Amino acid sequence: MRFLYEELLSLKSRNLYRTLKTVEGPPASRIIVDGRECILLSSNSYLGLAEHPAVRAAAIEAVSRWGAGAGGSRLISGNLGLHEDLEREIARFKRTEAAIIFNTGYMANLGAITALAGKGDVIISDELNHASIIDGCRLSRAETRIYRHKDTEQLKEILRQARGHRRRLIVTDSVFSMDGDIAPLPEITALAEEYGAMVMVDDAHATGVLGVRGAGAADYFRLEGKIPVQMGTLSKALGSFGAFVAGSRELIDFLTNRARSFIFSTALPPAVIGAAMAAIKLVENNPEIRQKLWDNARYLRAGLEKMGYRVLSGESPIIPVLIGDDRKTVQMAGSLRGKGVFAPGIRPPTVPPGTGRIRVTVMAVHSLYDLDEALDVFEKAGKEVGVI
Ligand SMILES: *Cc1c(COP(=O)(O)O)cnc(C)c1O
Repeated sequence: MRFLYEELLSLKSRNLYRTLKTVEGPPASRIIVDGRECILLSSNSYLGLAEHPAVRAAAIEAVSRWGAGAGGSRLISGNLGLHEDLEREIARFKRTEAAIIFNTGYMANLGAITALAGKGDVIISDELNHASIIDGCRLSRAETRIYRHKDTEQLKEILRQARGHRRRLIVTDSVFSMDGDIAPLPEITALAEEYGAMVMVDDAHATGVLGVRGAGAADYFRLEGKIPVQMGTLSKALGSFGAFVAGSRELIDFLTNRARSFIFSTALPPAVIGAAMAAIKLVENNPEIRQKLWDNARYLRAGLEKMGYRVLSGESPIIPVLIGDDRKTVQMAGSLRGKGVFAPGIRPPTVPPGTGRIRVTVMAVHSLYDLDEALDVFEKAGKEVGVI
């Protein structure tokens, strides 16, 4: 197995080798990473719900009543009343007829895409879609056509060429995970209608964040009823774990019978279901948490731009600070961490070559004091590495 050594050496020589960092404690505004206190600027728990007392209490209560594990897949013996309660809650929250829970966002994308498209079909996918969408496309055996990021002209051209295929599925992130920008869903859904295509949206970073109700991209764009397949996660802003697809009753019945990642995997444990239920309630009843998130995002973004950083434009709590060079990206992340800010560098293959970046994410639980201190560290680190 000499190739293990060779491949690892090759990664190291190209500055692409990755190691795990140990975090002690829940994702709060400040955490201990590898023994050092840092301001956390890389969590997807945007609303701070992973550490919220009501969410933790709901997880504990669910364990007390339902046990530690479901003991089976949903279609055999693992379908607890608790799972069905959450699916009803999600459908109500998303204003769809029904919803189905998957064990992760990764598995939801794999399961839904492979069920909806196969041989003889075409999947049309944004070039910056999440890896789990890419893997779903590959596994589906459908023809996959990639369009330039958010380029609806090219999407239209591909749809025109794909008229002869059995089914057409357009799939896109709503909030793009590495760029933090938002897909042009009004145009995409209009094109889908014109050309008879299905639309699937990945709301992983939008659930709990986008829209007046925090219900995701359909809420944000007032497109309720216009996006037939809405995937979302319970693991990011909702602070728990797992994912869902929301849509028509027929779609959900179909996925229950056809999505292999749903069928052949043990149902989620009660703790995460209880936590997700509590989190959805908090999102619905406390819009001020979301407001604080947006205020914090604007403040941090403006501060970084004023310092001379190149920040990708976008209206989300994901604030990508472009560095470019891989080695400098690594240096920058190291310098930030040494000074007490945890915001990792993102390099290829996660992002296109030459677009290495520090991916900053802000949370509602950051105080202005946290953000000012983080900005101070960014100024010092940027000067040290020579990027500002
Ligand atoms: C995080 C993420 C996923 C995967 O969700 P998990 O629940 O972490 O498996 C899928 N799609 C996008 C866009 C994501 O950001």
